[in-house]
Amino acid sequence: INYFKKDGMAKPLFGLLRLGKINSQAAEYTGRSSAAWEWDSRDIDRFIVALESYRLLPKNPYDLNKAKNGKHYWVTSTIVPFLDDNGLPYQYISIRSEITQIKEAENLLQQNKGKLEAMVHERTTELAKTNSALQFEIERRKALEEHLRDLAITDTLTGIFNRRKFDDALTDEMGRSGRYGTPLSLLIFDIDFFKRINDAHGHLVGDTVLQTLGRFVTGKIRSLDMFARYGGEEFAILTPGTNIAGCCKLAGKLRVAIEQHEFPEAGPVTCSFGVTEFRRGDTAESFVRRADVALYRAKKNGRNRVEEE
Ligand code: GH3
Ligand code: MG
Ligand code: MG
Repeated sequence: INYFKKDGMAKPLFGLLRLGKINSQAAEYTGRSSAAWEWDSRDIDRFIVALESYRLLPKNPYDLNKAKNGKHYWVTSTIVPFLDDNGLPYQYISIRSEITQIKEAENLLQQNKGKLEAMVHERTTELAKTNSALQFEIERRKALEEHLRDLAITDTLTGIFNRRKFDDALTDEMGRSGRYGTPLSLLIFDIDFFKRINDAHGHLVGDTVLQTLGRFVTGKIRSLDMFARYGGEEFAILTPGTNIAGCCKLAGKLRVAIEQHEFPEAGPVTCSFGVTEFRRGDTAESFVRRADVALYRAKKNGRNRVEEE
């Protein structure tokens, strides 16, 4: 720390930091005795004020200096004015701090920061790669799972729901109907004289007829209706929210539509329909059995017709 009057010579000021007492060590450093210094007691207060404002001042940029021995060193310096009672500067303190070690430490820190950043970047890239590989694998497995789930509930020949899915839906819908009292009906239909189609045109044509019929009926029912292949050439439709009259209407509509549809490979195809409505106390077995009884009667009464039970 240097201390100098306005227009005066700079004087070293070590001792002042100890509130005006200049010790022998300070005198040694500066080569001056304390006696050579002029002090006004108010200077100490002003010095403290000035130091305080120094603390708040933005630090000057660093300077690179050269020492007598040729070594370079970094300093930062700030000049703080002492203000008199009129607010005018009457003397100044310049504070110079050597910060070579700080600069060196900063440089080292900067270098290491660069290395660290490179390492973090490398790790991040690796992680991102692993993550996207994992994500891909998760998606693949999800798709596979979905595919397996679809397979488990789908009839392979026709692509519509299979018997397993139908039985599950039957249990669910019977429960719902039992709880809320909403109507639930069931329709089972069976291709008439299907054996003849197979015998006349071959099994493959029979298969094609089953596929065509599956697509055709799918296009004629509501999305809420549950349509499944129930057995060989036997299909079932569960119609939640529909009573027996509504279900008979649907059966009649399908019967006519199938009768009128062109099956190019096999000629005309007809089906017989059995319809029933869920009753309180029904088991799945008793519910389905009634539809079967109705279907059997439709066959017995001449086929290509709807019977209810
Ligand atoms: P009905 O009017 O009494 O129902 O006579 P139907 O000939 O349709 O009945 P039947 O039970 O005598 O014969 C059903 C035929 O359906 C026999 C069977 O080979 C055939 N079938 C069952 N599943 C398939 C299949 O997936 N593909 C083919 N092509 N034929 C099938
Ligand atoms: Mg049949
Ligand atoms: Mg049959």
